[in-house]
Amino acid sequence: MRWGRFEFHLIADTEFRLDGGAMFGVIPKVMWERARTPDSANRIRMTTHCWLIVGEGGPVLVDTGIGEKLSEKAMAQFGVDPESPRLLDKLESIGYPAESIRHVVLTHLHFDHCGWNTRRHVADGEEHWVPTFPQATYWLHRTELEAARSPNARDRASYDSRNWEPLFAAGQVEIFEESAEPIPGLRVVAAPGHTAGMCIALLDGEADGTAAFWTDLVPMAPHVATPWVMGYDLYPVTTMANKERWLRKAHREGWLSIFQHDPEVPMGRLNERRPGRFEAVPLAP
Ligand SMILES: [Zn+2]
Repeated sequence: MRWGRFEFHLIADTEFRLDGGAMFGVIPKVMWERARTPDSANRIRMTTHCWLIVGEGGPVLVDTGIGEKLSEKAMAQFGVDPESPRLLDKLESIGYPAESIRHVVLTHLHFDHCGWNTRRHVADGEEHWVPTFPQATYWLHRTELEAARSPNARDRASYDSRNWEPLFAAGQVEIFEESAEPIPGLRVVAAPGHTAGMCIALLDGEADGTAAFWTDLVPMAPHVATPWVMGYDLYPVTTMANKERWLRKAHREGWLSIFQHDPEVPMGRLNERRPGRFEAVPLAP
């Protein structure tokens, strides 16, 4: 889709499934199951959109999906189809092979957001993990890196150091503090809550306005409602405050919202149902 002087694509690495209760936190099941129907294991359908932005200084890829590191057991647990085409195939098919990517922006380092940062490479019978995008600078918030390198018992399972340490070995990481602008018009801004260092990405499309890639600040369209916060969030009250602040601005300025994990409503605009109460109006991709 054209967006100002850019062109962008939403590319799902793969669909997967997570427990509906965990995805909607304190919201009772009788409420969230009206929004999303769970399967027999109480899981809901989700996806892993990556945001490819083409324009001056690019192409840029925001987040890199789940990748190829999950065990067979984990694939089954998360309902990942081992046969379906994945991010790298899809990039290639639209003319952007891995070698063409100039920047990779990481919203955070959870396994479902940075899996294709690196890929398996076997040399002399030994397995190594090497950067998937050899020409790219990988952008990463310092606080997120620190949290990922010293996880706690609650979020340890979400982090896999094979997704980032090889990038340092290759000298391909650019660390930033509060915000960064990898290419003119694309800003990455800290919006903590889900993790201490999570960032959202904002694309200035000039006359088209701003497109916001909310990542896990608002992972799916139903999460637009302030108290609909994932059980995974480490700092839910911070998530709510950041969500209110950013969604108010997005509504006032007519931004496009991108819901990274939503297979049904990948994009939408915000409508104010009642003062301060927003809902997503779906937009066709
Ligand atoms: Zn996520």
